[in-house]
This record gives sequence, C-alpha cells and structure tokens, in this order.
Amino acid sequence: MSATGAALIDCYNGSSDYGSVITVGAAVQLILKQIRPLSGEEVRILDARERILFENLRAARHVPPFDNSAMDGFAVRWADVERASPDSPTILRVLETVPAGYVAKRRLVRGSAIRIMTGAPVPRGADTIVRVEDTETTGDEVRIRRAEGMGSHFRKAGEDIRSGEVILQRGRKLTAADLGLIASVGKARVKVYRRPTVAIISTGDELLNVEDKPRPGKIVNSNSYTLAAAIAETGAIPRVLGIARDTRKGLVAAFKKALPYDVIVTSGGVSVGDFDFVKEAFADIGVKMHFWRVAQRPGHPMAFGRVGAKPVFGLPGNPVSSTVSFLLYARPALLKMMGHQKLFLPVAQATLEHEIHKRHRLKEFIRCRIRREDGQLFVSSTGTQSSGVLRSLSLAEGLIVAHEEQELLTKGSQVPVLVLDYHDQLQAELGF
Ligand code: AMP
Ligand code: MG
Repeated sequence: MSATGAALIDCYNGSSDYGSVITVGAAVQLILKQIRPLSGEEVRILDARERILFENLRAARHVPPFDNSAMDGFAVRWADVERASPDSPTILRVLETVPAGYVAKRRLVRGSAIRIMTGAPVPRGADTIVRVEDTETTGDEVRIRRAEGMGSHFRKAGEDIRSGEVILQRGRKLTAADLGLIASVGKARVKVYRRPTVAIISTGDELLNVEDKPRPGKIVNSNSYTLAAAIAETGAIPRVLGIARDTRKGLVAAFKKALPYDVIVTSGGVSVGDFDFVKEAFADIGVKMHFWRVAQRPGHPMAFGRVGAKPVFGLPGNPVSSTVSFLLYARPALLKMMGHQKLFLPVAQATLEHEIHKRHRLKEFIRCRIRREDGQLFVSSTGTQSSGVLRSLSLAEGLIVAHEEQELLTKGSQVPVLVLDYHDQLQAELGF
C-alpha cells in the first residue's frame, strides 16, 4: 500500500466498538476484501489512456527498427574521415541523398559519402555520421572539416527496446508516453482491465427529474448527477437508471433492472424511517448484507452487500452523505475493480484555522477549503455541515478528518485532510 493509502487507513481507523455500527476503517477493509479486479479486455491504443495494463507488455519489434542517423549530415566510413580537421578537410564524393523513409540504393565505398537526413536508414558500408554543420558541399563533393568519433550520431537498431523485452508491467496506469511506446512496437491494441458499469438508482417519492415542473413537496433528484459524475471520474461507466418509488415493490422492480450491471449504487431509503425499504428490497433480490450503519458523519446509514459477486452500495439519501460515502467506499472499490493500486484519496496534514466542536462520538468528515501559505496548508470549514447542504460540498477542496474520540479540534492544531480538489499548488506540496 502507498504511503498515502496507509495514512488514509489511519484516517479511517477508529478505536471504539459500536456494536452493530461498524467503524469507517472496518467498513472500507471489509468492502475491499469482497472486491475482485475485473477481467481484461483488448482496446485500441487511444482507449487505453489512463487505463490499467492487464498484461506484461512485450515488444515484438526492435526500437529503432533499423540503424539510422540521429542528424542531418553525411554517412561516412570512419577510416576515411578520422584525420579530417578544419585546416585539412577530407574530401569525399557524394553518391546519393537518402531522405527519411527511404533506403539508399548504393553501398558506401572508400572515399565516398551519402547525404543522409535524420531518421533515414544508415547505408550499407557506413559506420559514422558527420553533421552537416561540419561540412561544406560543392557539386558532388563534400569537404569534411570534423568527425566526432567512430559511430557518432549513429542510432543502432534495438538500442531503445529489444524485441522480446517487457516494456510495461501489468498493473501500470498507462500514460500518454506509454501509449506512444506501445504504438512504437507496432501494437494497435492493448489488454487493459475492464471498466465496471455502475447502475445508479435514486429512491424517494419526493424526487422529480430535473426537467420536471416543480410540484408541492417535491425536490429534484440531484444525487444521480453527483454520483454519475463521481463514478465517471474514477473511470467506471455510470448508467443512470432513474428514480424508484418508496415501496418495497417499486424498489424491487427498479433493483432488478440494475442486475445486469457490474455494480449497483442506490441512494436514499437506508435509514430507519417508515418508508425506508431499501434494505428489505435488497434482501428480496438476493443481496447478502454485510453492514448498514457506519460510525461516521455525514453518512451514518450506508448499506453494503453483494448479490453474487456484484457489489451493492446503498448510499444514504442526503446529498452530502451519499457523495462522501461514495468517495470513502465505492470509489476505492471501483478503482480496485479496474486494477488500480492507488485506491484512496490523498491525505495531507494541515493547520486548522478555527476551532471545531464535535458533538458525536463518530468520525466526522468536515467540508473545508484548503489554503497554502509559506509551504504550509491551512484548512477552514466551508460553512454549515448539515448533510443536506450540497453547496458546502461544492465549495469544498477537502474533508477534514476528525476522529471519534475527539471533542474539540483546537485552532492551530494539525489535522488530516482528504484532498478532493488537487489544484496545482497542492499537487506540488503533496508531491503527487
Ligand atoms: P432518505 O435517506 O431517503 O431518508 O433521504 C434523506 C434526505 O435526502 C431527504 O431529505 C431526501 O429528500 C433527500 N434525498 C434523497 N434522495 C435524494 C436525491 N436523489 N437527490 C436529492 N436529495 C435526495
Ligand atoms: Mg427516502
């Protein structure tokens, strides 16, 4: 596990036993233990960007594929030019010109040179390239004023990559340069971990679609959008399946539609209200529940289970709770399914700008701004921490982690922060 991963588990870990309520650390470990990486699939190079390599990738060709010139100049025999100097240039006969992409027709013989461009194959008989800057041409003769040494500016076949060599290891997150490298060895397709499809179902009789006219007692379903975007940011494929009504039957019907997908994410209906039937409906479709309450704020009610191998996340309904629970639990699970090694949000240490009172023996995740001054990070709350207030999450660059047993976080103290918004300065500070 990476250093930040270990630090994050530390942020998750709690000391207390909450009976049927599981600690944040236990919840994340339990979830990750249930999650297996998906299989691999072959994709076109450009579709492999930022994906995780499923195979040890071997080069089937040398790079470069043939001996070639690193400079515009003249291909020569070292024996002919070794004594050349500005005062006593060597004069050679120019046999032909070989541009990049062509092969010289002639073989180089004693006393001759072939004009060559960068990237063109070195003609037979040549062992050295002289830069054009060190020459003067008149008619079909070239005066060599300087040669830098036997074999200079001569790129050997296979000097970057040998055919058969492993150039990229399984588990690697593919970068732009990696994609070029894969192309350079002639592979048009590459095997990467599959991306899970994630069904998103929002539950609640109060929910309207964003296009609907406002109606008394109704609010817009915003969770589907937050969750779909957060899922897409992991690289997984969100599938918004809409709104399910708050009846056991309605929920079961909606959940059944989610079964063809790799992961199911629901929001709402997991607390102890009279119409919170999500847990029962999960049981009806065969979900085996692992837990449904976590000792945290926001996001206390949160169900995790499996139907077969398929993970099911019953996130809370409050918009901040569902997002924070997604980030803490579903995000690392999706990343693990896609073969990632780095599963957790980065953690920074920061100085708290004001005191925070905690009323509950729960782990709290406090929405905060992150400011950097003189190489130090400072954090302050983005305002009301009510779990329904999405605005204060939208303003947040991080989440301060306040442990269960803490009651007062004093101004000026050092606190761990999960970083949500890796703006440039912060990246430099954290070194990622
Ligand atoms: P619940 O967990 O179903 O009791 O919902 C808790 C709170 O979150 C209630 O105020 C709901 O109206 C609200 N809520 C539930 N689902 C959504 C959603 N999809 N979008 C916005 N708010 C929601
Ligand atoms: Mg509800």
